[in-house]
Amino acid sequence: MKLTMLGTGGAFTRLRSNAHNNALIEVDGKRYLLDCSLYAFDVLEGEYGIDPLDLEGVLVTHFHGDHISGLEELGFRSLFLGDRRPLLHCHPHLLPGITGEPSEDALDLWENCLRGAMENMRTPSGGSERATLETYFAPRPAEQFFLGEEDRIRCTWFSTDHVPGMSSFGLAFENDEGRRLCFSADSRLLSEEFYRTFDVILHECLLLPSFAGTVHAHLEELLELPTDIQQRIHIMHYGDVDPALRLTEDTALSVAEPKDIFEL
Ligand SMILES: [Zn+2]
Repeated sequence: MKLTMLGTGGAFTRLRSNAHNNALIEVDGKRYLLDCSLYAFDVLEGEYGIDPLDLEGVLVTHFHGDHISGLEELGFRSLFLGDRRPLLHCHPHLLPGITGEPSEDALDLWENCLRGAMENMRTPSGGSERATLETYFAPRPAEQFFLGEEDRIRCTWFSTDHVPGMSSFGLAFENDEGRRLCFSADSRLLSEEFYRTFDVILHECLLLPSFAGTVHAHLEELLELPTDIQQRIHIMHYGDVDPALRLTEDTALSVAEPKDIFEL
């Protein structure tokens, strides 16, 4: 599996990371977007020459716009220009309307984020038609799913500590040799025991000083982690400043930059 950082910025970034914190996943010739902001398509097509219609699917962590704002375009484009439905992988709590599973917040990706723009359609005869999420996507809500030939990459959603009351998840990737890669998505710091289960950790990191009510992990918190954990961490989701200016010389943290590739 190859994970390419399309961007390493947070929700408000433009200069260093046009695609926010989204990534491209490639496994055995199939391509997936890990989170799907509108700006990810600019990078995907503009810098990699990849048509969004060539995506096998998307992996969605939570409802914030820098993670899902491209779903409307991807759905419309796939249906009207490609006559295909991309796979939509997410935790069941993001689609309680399909899974029936109670979620912490009972919010639903279709009902609360996409339906207003995507439900109503015009038929070829000029009439009206009601679309559903399945009109545009092939939803795959599950706590665990597999990518690649012979299911060689196991992908497991884990709950993140982001906004209270809002379901949000990160992804644990594990290959057939037991090597594990963590993509934190948006999360405050999790436990040292959890981090020790991974060989490589892509972790969000705000370079702003931590403040009351923050919903993100901040640099000074990551710097308090034991060295053996810091050595596994590549920070991402930082702002438009140069992270090298904020890292101390003795830190063991690494910085993920746009176009960086992580293999599993
Ligand atoms: Zn978020």
